[in-house]
Amino acid sequence: MPEKPENKFQLDTLAVRAGQVRTAEGEHSEPVFTTSSYVFDSAAAAAARFSGEDPGNIYSRFTNPTVRTFEQRLAALEGGERCVATASGMAAIYSTCAGLLKQGDHIVSSRSIFGSTVILFNNYLAKFGIEVTYVDQSDLQAWGNAIRPDSRLLFLETPSNPLTEIADINALATVAHEHDCLLAVDNCFCTPALQRPLDMGADIIIHSATKYLDGQGRCIGGAVVGSEEIVGTDVYGFLRTCGPSMSPFNAWVFLKGLETLGLRMERHSRSAASIATWLEQQENVTRVWYPGLRSHPQYELAQKQMKAPGGLLSFEVRGGKEAAWKIIDATRLLSITANLGDTKTTITHPATTTHGRLTPEEREQAGISDGLIRIAVGLEAVDDIKDDLARGL
Ligand SMILES: *Cc1c(COP(=O)(O)O)cnc(C)c1O
Repeated sequence: MPEKPENKFQLDTLAVRAGQVRTAEGEHSEPVFTTSSYVFDSAAAAAARFSGEDPGNIYSRFTNPTVRTFEQRLAALEGGERCVATASGMAAIYSTCAGLLKQGDHIVSSRSIFGSTVILFNNYLAKFGIEVTYVDQSDLQAWGNAIRPDSRLLFLETPSNPLTEIADINALATVAHEHDCLLAVDNCFCTPALQRPLDMGADIIIHSATKYLDGQGRCIGGAVVGSEEIVGTDVYGFLRTCGPSMSPFNAWVFLKGLETLGLRMERHSRSAASIATWLEQQENVTRVWYPGLRSHPQYELAQKQMKAPGGLLSFEVRGGKEAAWKIIDATRLLSITANLGDTKTTITHPATTTHGRLTPEEREQAGISDGLIRIAVGLEAVDDIKDDLARGL
């Protein structure tokens, strides 16, 4: 990408162009480098690579050209100095914690985070003496009160899943930095096309590339984006030794996914907004949660920090579980699955799937009622999605 320095291009340009290094073959599309290791011209050249004097490739657990192109492209989109790709979104979260934290450190986390992240914190980080305190995502005061002298990291997802609560990234970055903590934002639901947390003061971005970065439901992967010091040293150091690196093939799939990211997120958002507005008018629907609706309690904040409201929405129907299951089972087009961030619209009953392990009291506290349905709106024609929902409504 000559002429302009890379970071001066707009997001849609970076999504298509950033990070590509053409080989001597002159290929137009980025190649996949399926090689586990690399050869050196001489014993001295090998020694220079291993000593770090020459920064070239040694082994694909450390670096791979296809993975590097994906990393540089995503770093450019998020406005971060450095990105490291990981084998999954969970590997991104684990590598961040393992790379940055030590025994005796404390995390303050939003209560409304991905279920596996809670299990990682409670069952695995706890074994190594790292404690976590959970707070209500939208209660700024609670975050401040939960911070202790040994706190190191604040962790959140915004909007949350399934109730689309918004965290004030700017305000929480200030709280984190006042207490010498880092703020990590799982940006999986927005992607940089809709929200750039580093611009708002966050220190670390986590991605499950499995969701919207691929956007077509094909591969598992993840990424961490941030400064050279945090991501390039601490997180990468853990990753290259402990091994949850991204496969070159998956990196290539995600790279191609990024090229259409802006287009897709715009369409996911437009369709979800149309469905949310339509659902609000349905007689059997008691409430709709979507950050693009004026009825959303944090509508103003969502407008301020997100470019568009995204593809995820939830709604509650009269009649509890029975009514909710009836709507889900009446669909013929929508996929009954807990996954999201796909071209295909998915429909889920959180109370009996993603949040099924919680006790009824815990579910009530989390706001997950029996009549709640979550939809991750895909790229089908929006009227066909409405017709499919209307059948059970
Ligand atoms: C799916 C998901 C993850 C985990 O990602 P995997 O790629 O499945 O490991 C983490 N955070 C959020 C918000 C997710 O939706």
